[in-house]
Parts: sequence; structure tokens; C-alpha cells
Amino acid sequence: MPVYFITSDQVQRGTATITGPLLHHVRTSLRTRIGDSLWVGDDRRRRHLIQVTQLDRHQLVGRVLEQHEGPIRRSPAVTIGQALLKSDRMDWVIQKATELGAASFVPLIGRHVVIRPKAARVATQQQRWQRIALEAAQQAERWEIPTVATPCEATAFFSQQPPADVNLILRERAPGQSLASIPLPNTPESTIVIATGPEGGWAREELGIALEHGFTPVTLGKLILRAETAALAALSILQSRVGELG
Ligand code: SAH
Repeated sequence: MPVYFITSDQVQRGTATITGPLLHHVRTSLRTRIGDSLWVGDDRRRRHLIQVTQLDRHQLVGRVLEQHEGPIRRSPAVTIGQALLKSDRMDWVIQKATELGAASFVPLIGRHVVIRPKAARVATQQQRWQRIALEAAQQAERWEIPTVATPCEATAFFSQQPPADVNLILRERAPGQSLASIPLPNTPESTIVIATGPEGGWAREELGIALEHGFTPVTLGKLILRAETAALAALSILQSRVGELG
């Protein structure tokens, strides 16, 4: 059952209040009625089972029947640095990687990306991806919503101080350590970044800068995967190794 995200200030003294787009969704798509119950999760990793006591065009009010604290994180947070893909494929990566437990996304503008974002559209696009992550997190019963950063140049991403404790770059057709056996941290505070190239692959210069700044090239084997498949395969391997999948 989906768990809808609200903010912690929407729950006060045993009562939850829902307005805005979520209200619209529960009224029109879910056809929620007074007396129905639903799960909502807040930004403090608390989950509430509420029963609707009041519902109109302006707000939904629910009585909190049960409250649960989220489990303590036990594995490293994985960030996907994803070179921009054609719109629907980027949406797909964000949706599926959210289901697989990615902690955050950084869309990367690489030399070989097919579509460079128009400056005026960057903010709208970022909001759209954030919305996709929110919806997928609700569907997957995640305890938190992954964040989607504003797109940044791949070279800047690689060269500014290493974004995580373990910084990996997926490189095809070249020797590299296998993602299945590379040493990984296994503490909840640690962070892993995995960068996937665009459909045209990384430019030589981008790879050079990444390696120079401490990114480790990793391979997924001999098969040449499409970028979105590579990102999801890599995340699945990582999540399985840290005990989040499987
Ligand atoms: N057009 C390129 C392939 C790009 S694949 C070519 O024909 O050579 C897109 C991205 O997916 C790559 O930049 C890489 O990051 C990742 N990728 C695909 N297959 C991979 C593999 N076997 N190992 C590691 N990364 C891979």
C-alpha cells in the first residue's frame, strides 16, 4: 500500500491535515471517503495510519490510529550520477532507481549527452524529476524521498571535492575492477557515488578528470548495456552487496 509523504508539521496532537496536490490525489484518483484509512509518512521517518474524519475541497483531516518510527539506516547511501538521457529514459532511471533504494540523484551534463537542457527549463525539469522520485518513493513504501539535484557539468562534478566516501565511474569496453567485488564500506554513515555515462559514453577528457580526482573505474562485464540499464544493474548489485536487496 503506498505511503504518502507529508511534512511533520502536518501532524499535530493526533491529527493529520492534508492539503494541496496530495489532497487532490486522494480525493480524485483514490476516491478516498470519510472513514477510510491511509498511511502517511513524514520527514522525520515516522509513519502514521490515519482515518479520515473530515474531507472537502480544502483539506482532509484524519485521526492518527497508529504511529511507527522508521528503522535505523544500516547501509551506505547510494547516489547516482547519471549523465542526461532522453527525457523518458531519464524519468525511467529516476523512477526505477528510487524503487531500488537510491538515496539521491545528480543529473550530469556530459560532452556526449544527446540533449543539453535549455537554461530556462532546468528548474522545471528538476522539479519534474523530484516529483517522479516522490511518487516512486510512495509506491515503494520508502522512508525517505530521494533528492534530485539541479543538473551539473560532469567535469565539475568529478573535479570538485570527491562527492562521497567511495566514488565509482562505470566504464564499458575497458579493464576495471568488477562492481561485484570492489571493496565497499558497510556503515550507515558512508556514502557511495556511482556515475553512469550517456548513450554516447564518457568523453576521454571526462574519464581523465574523474580518474584524476579519485573516481575508481568499474565494469559490469563484457555486455555493453544502454545507459539506463547500466545504472539500474549497477544499483542492484550495490544494493544487494550492502544488504538492501535480495
Ligand atoms: N555508446 C557507447 C556505449 C555507452 S553505454 C559505446 O558503444 O561504446 C552508456 C554508459 O553505460 C557507459 O558510459 C557506461 O557508464 C555504462 N555501461 C554500459 N555498459 C557497461 C559495462 N559493461 N560496464 C560498465 N559500464 C557500462
